[in-house]
Amino acid sequence: MPAKVRPRSTEERQYTSWDRARLSIVVPIGVIVAVAIVCIVVTVLSSAERADEFSVDHERQLLSRAITSYGERILREVDSATSTDVAVRNIRDNFNGRWVHRNVAEWLESFFDQDLVFALDDKDQVIYSLAHRTSTDTGWFTAARPDLAPLIDYLRGRTTDTQSLEKAAAPDDSPNRQAVLIDKFGGQPAIITAVAVGAKVAAPDVRVPIVASVRYIDRAMLSDISARLRLEHLHVAADGPVAAGDYVYDLPSSTGHTIARLAWTPRRPGAEIVNSVVPFIAVALAGFAVLAAFVLRYMRRTAAAISAGESRLRHLAMHDPLCGLPNRIFFSERLEHVIEEVREGRPPAAVFYVDLDHFKDVNDTLGHHVGDELIRNVTLRLSHTLRGDDLVARLGGDEFAVISSIGDDQEKMMAMAQRIISAICAPYAINKQSIVIGASVGIAVIEKKSGGAADIMRYADIALYRAKNEGRNRACIYDAAMDADLSNRKLLETDLRYALENSALQLLYQPLVNNSGATVVGVEALCRWRHPERGDISPTEFIAVAEHSGLINDLGQWVLRRACIDGKAWPGITVAVNVSPLQFRRTDFYDMVIRTLNETGFDPARLELELTESTFIGNAENAEAAMIRLKAMGIRLALDDFGTGYSSLQYLRRFPFDKLKIDQSFVRSIEKAADAAAIVHAVVSLGRGLGMKVTAEGVETADQHLFLRAAGVHSMQGFRFGKAVSAAEISTRLQTPASARPTDEIAAFAG
Ligand code: C2E
Ligand code: CA
Ligand code: CA
Repeated sequence: MPAKVRPRSTEERQYTSWDRARLSIVVPIGVIVAVAIVCIVVTVLSSAERADEFSVDHERQLLSRAITSYGERILREVDSATSTDVAVRNIRDNFNGRWVHRNVAEWLESFFDQDLVFALDDKDQVIYSLAHRTSTDTGWFTAARPDLAPLIDYLRGRTTDTQSLEKAAAPDDSPNRQAVLIDKFGGQPAIITAVAVGAKVAAPDVRVPIVASVRYIDRAMLSDISARLRLEHLHVAADGPVAAGDYVYDLPSSTGHTIARLAWTPRRPGAEIVNSVVPFIAVALAGFAVLAAFVLRYMRRTAAAISAGESRLRHLAMHDPLCGLPNRIFFSERLEHVIEEVREGRPPAAVFYVDLDHFKDVNDTLGHHVGDELIRNVTLRLSHTLRGDDLVARLGGDEFAVISSIGDDQEKMMAMAQRIISAICAPYAINKQSIVIGASVGIAVIEKKSGGAADIMRYADIALYRAKNEGRNRACIYDAAMDADLSNRKLLETDLRYALENSALQLLYQPLVNNSGATVVGVEALCRWRHPERGDISPTEFIAVAEHSGLINDLGQWVLRRACIDGKAWPGITVAVNVSPLQFRRTDFYDMVIRTLNETGFDPARLELELTESTFIGNAENAEAAMIRLKAMGIRLALDDFGTGYSSLQYLRRFPFDKLKIDQSFVRSIEKAADAAAIVHAVVSLGRGLGMKVTAEGVETADQHLFLRAAGVHSMQGFRFGKAVSAAEISTRLQTPASARPTDEIAAFAG
């Protein structure tokens, strides 16, 4: 049975639990991962940059080294060409231009690509020159002389600043004094090599000739270096910006000033690494993204599963497992909500508190499975009587409640309650048995000022109590007067308990006479309670209180014992005792009766137990069994108040009654309604047909007496023949002959 109203927050709850997961797990993980990715990228990029810097630095050093070693190599060649004995002789001792040309200049030019080779005499005048293979013009020397000055000064031993030139020293065993200079020569960067031939072995004051060689740092040399060092596009750059990505190296002279801007495209291993790593990173990121998507999906699912679990748990916690209806907790929440809405200005609503009559008996006598099935059936029927967004809940064993937006119109509320009662009261077919139960409904209106949920439920409960006491299968709407009524009942209950414990109750006996009215054939025990402050209280009132409070068992037991004790004084007549349905249904009822009979010594054959129809409703099997056992002991059974309840003819046929008591309401209407008379006739013949005695109750007038007698009633009871009186009065009456009694009419009939 699906509940009509769902907890509205279920959906919201799903979202909050996903949100919670997102806040507590997904977001932090996402942040960590993002930070990690940024760190990795930054690390990779910065180490790539450092690798690039390192690499270009390395290339610059290599280039610098290459140029230096160029100089050293040239110097070695120049030295080796001028340091032999033959060379010293042909240059120093006796300068031989032809020899120098053949053995030094041409060789240096053709094998070592020297641009200029020349010789200076001891006065630093050019005595030989070879430029670019052919030219022997020496005009350039005048212009170049200042560039050569540091070198010549050094070789001649005139300078003290020798550091930069001595670095390139020739082998020690050479007789020459040597130097290399990297500097501009005639405006062009160049490597200038010079040796003072045989200077080391000459006398200190002898000035020797100098042989020098110039190699321009030109395109050819750079492309050679470029090829060897693998420096891409190595070239002399013009002033101004260079191509993007190119690196510029200011080539220093031996004395430290810039002589050329060399540029090349440096290798960028970092960038290469980055380039080669990027696809991997991309793949890794993609992989990670896929993984993250999976994880998220999984988490989402888990979150969904968790919230589904949550809402399942919530559903379980909020619903009755047996019938699936919302339970008391759910109901209370909803009630609070509705009260709040009404306070905020919504129209009034109402609570219907429904209590099943006799459900407990069905459970006890037919078993729990039947009880459960019955509850499910009731649930179905209740749900069908509801409107729109009404909510029905099961509050406990046999208690249900409805919250309805029906408003506060009394007629409408009563009509709805009646629909509920009718739905519940229709017979149920369960386990091939027909079961009938009843229902009482207490109604409380939810208005702006009607208080909280607890108040509303108390009002509905009070109204329900009233409905039950007004005769069940009824509905009552709470009004403030009922409150007083209820507390009155509570007081009565306390007082009744006290009365019972202190023997303050009294048992009176009303005579039953034969149809002539002359002979007392029996008495009915009727309980009386004279309240110390309130005076006589009607048994209809205090019996109901006793039934409600459970006192009925003690009370019933006391009545039976008292009746048996008193009845022993009246041999020959029956003593009838009323038995409450609640009492009769107790499994120890039979034992209690037998024990009382044994203890008092009363003759079972003179005991008559009066039962009402409600004793059998929903309890047929057990009641039947108990009745058979009681009858087996000789006890007689009477069906009391016949005609007021369901008066199912089935009961009459099925249960072994000895007597039928026609209710006083029928007797009273004999004179007024023709059909009542007809019914009484029919009932009498029915009882007779079934072999039962028929008694008429509440006979007050002679006409009633006449009619009933004519109809064939066996015995009668009523004020006409005597009210309930004390045991002593019964004893007196039994001893007095009927003819001596003061009532003329009785005498007339008796005659
Ligand atoms: P009841 O069993 O139907 O008892 C008959 C009721 O009709 C008695 O009312 C009796 O005083 C009243 N009555 C008798 N003759 C006449 C008459 O001619 N006219 C009118 N108007 N009434 C008449 P009472 O004593 O007030 O008892 C009311 C009900 O309380 C009883 O109805 C019975 O159901 C219950 N009751 C009384 N005593 C006991 C008891 O000891 N145990 C149980 N379980 N119920 C009891
Ligand atoms: Ca009775
Ligand atoms: Ca009766």
